[in-house]
Amino acid sequence: MKEKAAELAIVSNKSFEASTAVNLHHYDISSALQTSLEFIELITIFCNKIQATIPHNSAEYTNSEFDLTFTRGVIARHSCTYALKVEDQQLGELKLTRSQRFSKDELRMLESLLCCLIYPLKNATLFQQALQMAYTDPLTKTHNRTAFNDTLMREMKRANRCRQNLSIIFVDVDHFKSINDQYGHNCGDLALASVASWVKDSVRASDIVFRFGGEEFVVLLADTHMDDANIIAERIRTDIESHTLAYGMDVLNITASLGVSTLQEHDTVDDIIKRADTAMYQAKKLGRNRVCLG
Ligand code: GH3
Ligand code: MG
Ligand code: MG
Repeated sequence: MKEKAAELAIVSNKSFEASTAVNLHHYDISSALQTSLEFIELITIFCNKIQATIPHNSAEYTNSEFDLTFTRGVIARHSCTYALKVEDQQLGELKLTRSQRFSKDELRMLESLLCCLIYPLKNATLFQQALQMAYTDPLTKTHNRTAFNDTLMREMKRANRCRQNLSIIFVDVDHFKSINDQYGHNCGDLALASVASWVKDSVRASDIVFRFGGEEFVVLLADTHMDDANIIAERIRTDIESHTLAYGMDVLNITASLGVSTLQEHDTVDDIIKRADTAMYQAKKLGRNRVCLG
């Protein structure tokens, strides 16, 4: 079966398990792969190192767990594809292409060299999973405050460098304490998780939702000016208002107050946050369930 597949121009969905590295070439590749925990860097190093032994025009690496697709080179007609895994853990899929068919000997050599890539990819997976956990709020599955601080800092630098707009929206659930008091903490937790998912559904995939703390969320809108941020905030507000939360025999209506701010020249991180926070408190003062601009 394996012999037959190697005769074909396309070898697909072959599973590949790790074994021991056997010679100096393997040792050289393994050493180089120890220098990174980034998927794209690992694939780049691997492909550079095997280019002389297995000449190829393009390499494509996909990893569905991390929503990653990376292609280098120009895709050619003949290909070989490997689903990489170790101990039943999926590590993504690597596809090489070139204009000439891969020979059986080359495929055998490639399979042997792929041994070197397996454990570095596993380490990268564990590292990326740990990073994701460190940046995720477990209750609402949004990004957490640490992620917000890092992301806001990065996006502000980018916006200033590229002369782009940047807006943030503070979302504070109205009278949330009374939900806890009336229905208990479990219901409060469910309400928070629900509000988080409604907010996520209201915004574009490129807009990032963070849990700022307690019952407060913040949405970061890259390349968005105040007018558009206001429209998005109003959409979030109406989406929260129009949902109901079923809890046992009870049906709860939830609203939120929102404050919007947009990056101004010479803003510090604290400045843009403060204006959104102040605008949100203004919305509270004006009667809640509304949007104010800062
Ligand atoms: P306002 O409309 O002025 O914002 O009133 P509020 O009741 O929403 O605001 P307040 O700051 O008085 O209360 C927030 C409450 O959120 C108090 C706190 O116990 C609750 N809270 C914070 N984090 C969590 C959580 O993770 N789970 C639950 N169930 N409650 C939380
Ligand atoms: Mg609050
Ligand atoms: Mg509140």
